[in-house]
Amino acid sequence: MEGEQQKTSITTLIVYSKAHSPRLVFVLDWLLKEVFQLDYQIVVDTLVVKPDIPAISYGKNIPGCITIPDEGLLWQQGASSFSFSEGEWQQVPIFFLKQSNYSLPFDLFSAIFFFLSRYEEYLPFIPDKHGRFPAEESVCFKKNILERPIVDEWVKLFSTILQTNGIGIHKNHFRFYPSYDIDIAYSFLHKGFMRSMGAWAKDLWVGNFSSVLSRLSVLTLNAKDPFDCFDWLDFVHKKLGLHPFVFVLAALQTTQFDKNNLPKISAMKKLIVHFSASGILGIHPSYFSTSDDIFKSEKSILETISKSKITQSRQHYLRMALPLTYRRLLSHGITDDWTMGYGSQLGFRAGTGRSFLWYDLEKEATTQLRVHPFCFMDSTAHWELKLNVSEAFERLEKMKQYLIDTQSEFVTVFHNFSLGSDPQWKGWPEAYQKFLEGVITV
Ligand SMILES: [Zn+2]
Repeated sequence: MEGEQQKTSITTLIVYSKAHSPRLVFVLDWLLKEVFQLDYQIVVDTLVVKPDIPAISYGKNIPGCITIPDEGLLWQQGASSFSFSEGEWQQVPIFFLKQSNYSLPFDLFSAIFFFLSRYEEYLPFIPDKHGRFPAEESVCFKKNILERPIVDEWVKLFSTILQTNGIGIHKNHFRFYPSYDIDIAYSFLHKGFMRSMGAWAKDLWVGNFSSVLSRLSVLTLNAKDPFDCFDWLDFVHKKLGLHPFVFVLAALQTTQFDKNNLPKISAMKKLIVHFSASGILGIHPSYFSTSDDIFKSEKSILETISKSKITQSRQHYLRMALPLTYRRLLSHGITDDWTMGYGSQLGFRAGTGRSFLWYDLEKEATTQLRVHPFCFMDSTAHWELKLNVSEAFERLEKMKQYLIDTQSEFVTVFHNFSLGSDPQWKGWPEAYQKFLEGVITV
């Protein structure tokens, strides 16, 4: 997380603009303050232009300034359907293109706003079977650039322009955050007698004999539960000095979608305490946690068991709808959400690996909820895209390289079920360990 100031000659950057807007401030706060650690001041009166002071001019071609065209998105209210032109800038795809003699060939600020605000998720769409915005509806999927963090690529190109103009910026460093969802901690163990017998009878009925035998050996012969990778994972994290984010599904009532071991049983309590002590414990709100009472009860049981305040969250099934889900999280004291990715595709849902504050497009206001995008989830690669181990990790490595090149942040999502001894995930634990060993050397 350390950084260094390359130059300190500029303290406050001037940004000329025709007006103020919450959208403009949102983009500048993220890009200039957060990413480059530059103070800025918006000046709406171009009569006061001082050509000797480095400045950005937004929407007006002022000589001596870094000029960026204005395509209008930052002056609108709410979301409405519109079209923007596209192109390429130094081999990077760009949107909100403008043929002109500005320093940048596109409206960088509108483009950043479009991706970070998740503008397209507020336009009408047909939700998937879990009520989610489908990856396949997104601009990036349609342009086949979902696995490139294009916002980070723009940031990198823009940083070169700032530096060429004598503006010293903060040097960012690549950061990696391993994260895990614990949907079902144990496949066979700690399910209670009735649930175990029911599952065993079902396996017999459908002829799933390998599962029948496996369950039997786990339950009677002390064989390791196929989802139990916790000691191994702990060992690897410790060895590599990693602090994982672990999101635990703590539904108090199991459903078709929530098949967790109940949080009140002692094995789960022990695990929850362990996660909280060895990394950062978060909530994995259950499928039906759209009900405030359900959310509250799940958060409260995790807090009671871990004796800590839960502020981190990732939706189970990545089930979210903007703006309601994020408003609910805020109302329950969640400060950081880690849901920003797709279940059916790999890649960058918001065009970036970097975290950002959530902008509520309906209220036209920046909120205090920090969104941490992820770009890779094991279940998406294996079940949805049907990739084999080497294909999956090849795609992961490619995205990692983009994030290294752009000094961005890298969040991965794995489940304990892919890292244990379940035969359908053969080779995944070894490949994952190799991946972790590589990523920490960056
Ligand atoms: Zn889940």
